[in-house]
Amino acid sequence: MKTTIYYFTGTGNSLKLAKDLSEKLNESELVPIAKVWEDDHHASSSENVGLVFPLYYAGLPKIVYDFLTKIDLAKSNYFFTVVTYAGDINTTPLLQIETILNSKSKTLSAGYYVLMPNNYILGYDIHSEERQKEYFEKANKIISEIGKAVEKNDVNLDKDIFKKRRIKSEKFNKNFRDTVYESDKSFYAEESCTSCGICANVCPVNNIALIEDKPQWKHKCQQCLACINFCPEKCIQFGDKTVKTQRYHHPEIEVKDLINQKN
Ligand code: SF4
Ligand code: SF4
Repeated sequence: MKTTIYYFTGTGNSLKLAKDLSEKLNESELVPIAKVWEDDHHASSSENVGLVFPLYYAGLPKIVYDFLTKIDLAKSNYFFTVVTYAGDINTTPLLQIETILNSKSKTLSAGYYVLMPNNYILGYDIHSEERQKEYFEKANKIISEIGKAVEKNDVNLDKDIFKKRRIKSEKFNKNFRDTVYESDKSFYAEESCTSCGICANVCPVNNIALIEDKPQWKHKCQQCLACINFCPEKCIQFGDKTVKTQRYHHPEIEVKDLINQKN
């Protein structure tokens, strides 16, 4: 049975896992959410549908939430998700997905979490290379197991977890989704910007324009942090929160992979 894996990525963690998972499945395709989320109508034609994305503010990234709400899933019957995270696990994304799927008379069968190196440099510094390597090795093993489970259409969710609503997390995530577009007001480029345009090119939602050779953020931000992490000069800052933090992107994911996400 064919599987479509929809993914969203900012620094490559989710893309790397989505690619690895896709390779483990007999028949699969990878579809970047950034490419299709604004389509008037998008329908999945696969029997199996997976969603791979990072945990944002205890729940779904806004783009994933909006896309899932819109997509036509009438032809699909097995749904799973792989959530990448770097801090605490939170089951709210599973509940959010289940709620949206239920509104389409569908249900989530399986949910997996994979610990990856930190990329949320607005709050925390990145992990050491040694720790990153450790996470990558563990992630490889987990993805192999997920591949086998998806092939068998495994169900790993006890629906009782959905009975315990996490009101606080849901509100926290909703507040994030309601305000994230304008969160880019704190981004700026320092004098050392070379006007290379990479920040604009990697932005999955085309939220950056080079005006007079300097990046300007257009207030439709998803806070994926691709721009700040991929800038080769490390000259993008977010207020004073990132002055001392290092930058991170998955070592096997390049600028061209981020550009492909939307083209
Ligand atoms: S990626 Fe960095 S150096 Fe290049 S245009 Fe953007 S801010 Fe300037
Ligand atoms: S502006 Fe930067 S943080 Fe916002 S969506 Fe684009 S790449 Fe991501």
